[in-house]
Amino acid sequence: MFIEPSLGNHDQAARKGQVEVICGSMFSGKTEELIRRLNRALIARQKVEIFKPALDQRYHEENVVSHNESIIRSTPVQFANDILLLAGNCDVVGIDEVQFFDNQIISVAEQLAHAGVRVILAGLDMDFEGKPFEPMPQLMAIAEYVTKVHAICMKCGDLAAFSYRLSGEKSKVMLGEKESYEARCRRCFYQGKES
Ligand SMILES: [Zn+2]
Repeated sequence: MFIEPSLGNHDQAARKGQVEVICGSMFSGKTEELIRRLNRALIARQKVEIFKPALDQRYHEENVVSHNESIIRSTPVQFANDILLLAGNCDVVGIDEVQFFDNQIISVAEQLAHAGVRVILAGLDMDFEGKPFEPMPQLMAIAEYVTKVHAICMKCGDLAAFSYRLSGEKSKVMLGEKESYEARCRRCFYQGKES
């Protein structure tokens, strides 16, 4: 589990911001981990805002809903820059499904962190072909802390880092219905692609 080393002074003027990335495949618990960190900040009465790309409307428009039904309210935004306008004087900004934002999100995360905000970004680090899913690689590079969470391979039960797409659909942004994907380990992922 990720244990925050230090969150600095609570006085925002004195506090240093930071960038945290939570990455992994589908079914790896990224959103649950984001919600865990945000809930603890909320309990401490920190000002928390949560954003996600407007295109991700899999479940409910207003909430970040994780696969195990933990719910936290969020604001869908069309563009990464909208987050700067809406974040106000937040202590903590959470952003889910980060892989669906364009590269603008990198400078948005940096600007928030420079202003003293704790920025926590969760997203898929690889697409269904096993390729890095931009802008996640850039965010992982500029982050102070990167946590990679793993699913369990649905073929062999080993740890899984890959999202295997069961349908023949080729578009990169195919919003994930659970039944369209399997979490797979490296071997089962590439064996599946050959057949
Ligand atoms: Zn496997």
